[in-house]
Amino acid sequence: MLASEVFFARCFSWFYKGSRYQCNLCGFKSRELRWRGHSFPILKEKNVISAGKRRSDCPHCLSSDRDRLVWLYLKNNLAQNKNILHVAPELPLANAIKNSSTLEPIEYTCIDKKTKGYYYPRWVQDGDITSLNFPDAHFDLIIANHVLEHIPNLTKALAELKRVLKPTGHAIFMVPLSGSHPTDDGCQLLNDKIICALSENEKINRFGQKDHVRLFGNDIETIFDTHGWFISPKNPSDLVSGDNLLESLALFPGECLLLAQPASLN
Ligand SMILES: [Zn+2]
Repeated sequence: MLASEVFFARCFSWFYKGSRYQCNLCGFKSRELRWRGHSFPILKEKNVISAGKRRSDCPHCLSSDRDRLVWLYLKNNLAQNKNILHVAPELPLANAIKNSSTLEPIEYTCIDKKTKGYYYPRWVQDGDITSLNFPDAHFDLIIANHVLEHIPNLTKALAELKRVLKPTGHAIFMVPLSGSHPTDDGCQLLNDKIICALSENEKINRFGQKDHVRLFGNDIETIFDTHGWFISPKNPSDLVSGDNLLESLALFPGECLLLAQPASLN
């Protein structure tokens, strides 16, 4: 997302003004949300949470349903996390973290695997989660939302993220998730190399997006467990009280916050 996209959204946000929804990231109240996502058949067939075409985005800051869910948790937990790594940062979430009154003692590092032709804010460093340029046990919190479904070498990424996280730290790993089917992985280990040989069309048909290499499923806790992570899904109602507030946030139905910790602690 570009800063200019947010600027233009704000110019037209008056059109959406109302009282049905309220964004917890920017406070904007609207009668309707903006569209997001695509309606590929696999997303419906596999009951995929956090994907598909839907009214999701705040008309003012363009936060998505999952950004608002993550902020529900983060806004009450920022102060305990002094050193944060945010991978492929979502602009509304990153701005909220940077503008938070509790930020003062926080070191906030944003990285993305920079690709030619894409724009990145200057506060985003180039970085690859399968080979991170940070010391061991450096971060209290890692945020990597809708990242792991893009990474061919999941084993290496989860090992590297675990390496840079303090043993007492935790991570937020939101992903598109099938509620009814097991994980479908398009990558294979061949001669010590991870190969993902699918075409864009095959990825759309199997995972619902042309640059995804897997679709996580109802075995996600087992998959993370085999990589040394303990996943603890948090229901939105555990994070906030009041059905009205949850309704006004327009979260994705059934989506939980995926909180992860190094499994050795459990
Ligand atoms: Zn907003």
